[in-house]
Amino acid sequence: MPNLKYQLSYFIKHKCAVWEFTLKCNSKCIHCGSSAGKSRLDELNTEEALTLVKGLRSCGYDGIALMGGEPFLRDDWYDVAQEIKQNKMKLTIVSNGLEIKNQIRKLKELQIDCVSLSLDGGIPKTHDYIRGIRGAYDKVLESIKILQKENIPVSVITTVNKINFKELNLIRDLLINKKIAWQIQIALPIGRFSKNLVISRKQFYGVAMFIALNLKKYSVRELPLIGAHCFGYFSMILPELGLDPWIGCQAGKSVLGIQSNGNIKGCLTLSDDFIEGNIRTTNISDIINSRFDLKYNQYLHKNNSQDYCYNCEMFKKCKGGCLGTRMALNSFDKPYCLKAIEKNLFKNESLPFRWKIDSKISKYKYLYQKILLK
Ligand code: SF4
Ligand code: SF4
Repeated sequence: MPNLKYQLSYFIKHKCAVWEFTLKCNSKCIHCGSSAGKSRLDELNTEEALTLVKGLRSCGYDGIALMGGEPFLRDDWYDVAQEIKQNKMKLTIVSNGLEIKNQIRKLKELQIDCVSLSLDGGIPKTHDYIRGIRGAYDKVLESIKILQKENIPVSVITTVNKINFKELNLIRDLLINKKIAWQIQIALPIGRFSKNLVISRKQFYGVAMFIALNLKKYSVRELPLIGAHCFGYFSMILPELGLDPWIGCQAGKSVLGIQSNGNIKGCLTLSDDFIEGNIRTTNISDIINSRFDLKYNQYLHKNNSQDYCYNCEMFKKCKGGCLGTRMALNSFDKPYCLKAIEKNLFKNESLPFRWKIDSKISKYKYLYQKILLK
């Protein structure tokens, strides 16, 4: 039985470093936040990467997620992955699933904790269009099958945009009862993703309803589903969509972002203004221990009257939700936040408190249709 809790939680696991291992990629995803394709000219070499793993361990990180680009395109991925496991850290590799077949033996040897694959459409046409590769859908489904056959834990990430948000039902039907953890997140207008394709706040609420409905309908064994950090905050009606109650953005706290050239940020979702240092010039422990609170807090505590969150009664607890989302969407006056959206949606009606207490699926369904079909 795979460790579903781990598969679900690697993004928010206590002290997990998310490492853009290379920018080299064999996909051309329209939503790629790093505009991946070619490697950076100054990516860390093997020795630097191995030293970084040890440094992260000594700073208390107990998990590393290698992502890209496509991590398997780096010739030394196995050496670095081995180092991660030898340092007794959890290892996740986030991949587009195009070339997994040739890596199975090594993945088994490593006893990898999770291979996380992107699935962005419920039908081949949509997934292939979003990933920019014909045949990508068939390949990712084949990769899931092979990994499961070999008992390698696998999870799926779906990045939602205007093209695919109505296909979540189809993706769910592919994943149900397969013991595949499923994370849903929104596509943000960073890298090469067009702002025109970002889902509206209403659609965002519809997707949140979809997650809530399915959390209600299926047990964690049937459908281990989770909303990423960008989904939520203090809804009057919906349950928590993440694994744990929301306690504010984890950038530089339990989450760390590493770029392939050694730049360190609190989280890879944040813009380059949030680079806190580079491991080639500053020791990783110095960056982690002395710098984060500076930029991060400076930003959070900027008194900005345009900032909706600043006047919200939950601000102290919530800290404005996902900082990367707020910045990418420039949504300071209209946050992608369930609490804020509900205020608008139900402004002429009394808020249906009862629904939270007596949250039967039929009531979610009614609301879901009302919002999405209106
Ligand atoms: S309005 Fe802002 S501070 Fe309030 S709950 Fe939503 S995201 Fe959090
Ligand atoms: S910026 Fe968003 S994704 Fe990154 S740690 Fe903060 S909440 Fe999580």
